[in-house]
Amino acid sequence: MLLRDWLLIGLIWFGLPAPGVAEDTAISCSGQAVQGGLLFCTAPPGGTLVVSGSKGEAMREVPVAEDGLATIGLRRTEALDLLITDKDGWAAPATLTLSAREDPFRTITGLDCDKVDARTEEQKAHAGRSWVKKQNAFKTFHEGAGARNGFIRPSVGPSSSPFGPARKYVGVGKDGEPCESTSVHRGYDIAIPVGTEIIAPAAGTVTLGDPDLYYEGGTVFLDHGDGLKSVFLHMSEVDVAAGDMVDAGQRLGASGNTGRTTGPHLHWAVKWRNPSSDDREADFYIDPALLLDLDPVG
Ligand SMILES: [Zn+2]
Repeated sequence: MLLRDWLLIGLIWFGLPAPGVAEDTAISCSGQAVQGGLLFCTAPPGGTLVVSGSKGEAMREVPVAEDGLATIGLRRTEALDLLITDKDGWAAPATLTLSAREDPFRTITGLDCDKVDARTEEQKAHAGRSWVKKQNAFKTFHEGAGARNGFIRPSVGPSSSPFGPARKYVGVGKDGEPCESTSVHRGYDIAIPVGTEIIAPAAGTVTLGDPDLYYEGGTVFLDHGDGLKSVFLHMSEVDVAAGDMVDAGQRLGASGNTGRTTGPHLHWAVKWRNPSSDDREADFYIDPALLLDLDPVG
């Protein structure tokens, strides 16, 4: 970290404007300042924002679009005190204090172990093909501003499982052997009967439409632009294909009980592209429910 940056942080701590920065040029953020949320920050167009912890440790860099908007996803475990600076020093920094999540831990029993992990050669091959399709779809990004108009519910029904809790699956296989696996629930489940219409929560470009992935079942990936991608799983009908452009509210297909499920529901997840890295493993999921309360921007 440069000495200049340390001085800048010191000045912010004392509430003074940074040297050489016009008072009216300050980074300003709206959105959901919550762990797992999403921020829209306005800053000098074409620049780069640096998201740091309160001690100045840089966590990621996010480009500012030509219209002056930067979209910043927040991790489920994000540090609560954030400092957002303009890398080139053209705008005064913003400090944010996030609301903390309190996600419970759940154990889910009675699972069919043969669906927990692919076991037979045929299952492994199916899971392998599915993995490749998903990786390719996650690597494909489109321009778009669908997320800036806010999000609507992709289907109407009660939420059966929120984003965030760690879930431990316990079950028994056909051979009587127990099995278990633990994962964080990274989507928002809506309990709806098989065949219920699923619509696009925001406009976007379809990057994957497949009726039969091994774990996910009928699957649609929808790229809203700004590095935000919706994922819809366990569908019984998939009515869109990669390359299709859809408007908010347009039909994507119907909900189902396909893939690794314990009952009919829609799993809706939203992944944020982390522009700091070329490794897509650095991308992460944010909380879809928080997006439903976003105010439109731009
Ligand atoms: Zn789910």
